[in-house]
Amino acid sequence: MGKVVLVVCDGLRDDTAREQMGYLWHLVETRQATRYTVIAELPTMSRPLYETICTGTPVSTHGVTSNLVVRRSTMPNLFEQAVKHKRTTAAAAYYWFSELYIRAPYDFIADRETDDPQQIIQHGRFYSDDPTPDREVFAMGAHLIHRFAPDFALIHPMGMDHMGETHGSDSPEYRNNAIFQDVILATLIPQWKQAGYTVLVTADHGITNDRMHGGILPGNRNVPLYILTPQGKGRGAVAAPAAQLQLAPTVCKLLGVPIPATMKSPALRL
Ligand SMILES: [Zn+2]
Repeated sequence: MGKVVLVVCDGLRDDTAREQMGYLWHLVETRQATRYTVIAELPTMSRPLYETICTGTPVSTHGVTSNLVVRRSTMPNLFEQAVKHKRTTAAAAYYWFSELYIRAPYDFIADRETDDPQQIIQHGRFYSDDPTPDREVFAMGAHLIHRFAPDFALIHPMGMDHMGETHGSDSPEYRNNAIFQDVILATLIPQWKQAGYTVLVTADHGITNDRMHGGILPGNRNVPLYILTPQGKGRGAVAAPAAQLQLAPTVCKLLGVPIPATMKSPALRL
């Protein structure tokens, strides 16, 4: 039975992460981490892929087929599975996660903060403004981990997506924001590992220089996955790509909860 921090850096391309995030690559090249290139499901849109990451199912199964499908998830998902098996949960995330796993539509006042053991996100802090600074989102998530020591915590910063949609992926603003996230992670990851967490860092989708995502270009579809165990042992960079559908069963396995039958893809090797 383990504890997991899942960091979903919205809009972080695989190549940008590899080239700009030096602390994470240090852990990869010294085999203190395992790194995969993950092929995102389609369409490479945010809300559908939030649901894919949390349910391990493609959009044609979970039904959240576009950003405009605003409803609660109907599939077995990581938060539900954790709470069902007596694990505690937390999330610092964009409000679409509240809509998927607490209630929809989101009430901008009532739903901003949740501390309720009856919900599947038991401690939630949500933001609705895309330019919300990554530093604030990471701090909200780190605070929840510090205060409540949840077994499963999601942290979801929007800075890469916002910079990519404002300046394009081939811009200093986009690339530098990856460095900025790496600096924050370099500060937080040692603390979380010390506290016994396995940390996963990934993205929902990438983005292109057209300042958009949705299609099948590698810039949209290829995203990173770093797996950092508390023991600090990894396999380095794995050549074969992983499927995004493998993320949810991997988290279930790390948490020590049963993998629902709907998550049909195998868990990843750490
Ligand atoms: Zn997104």
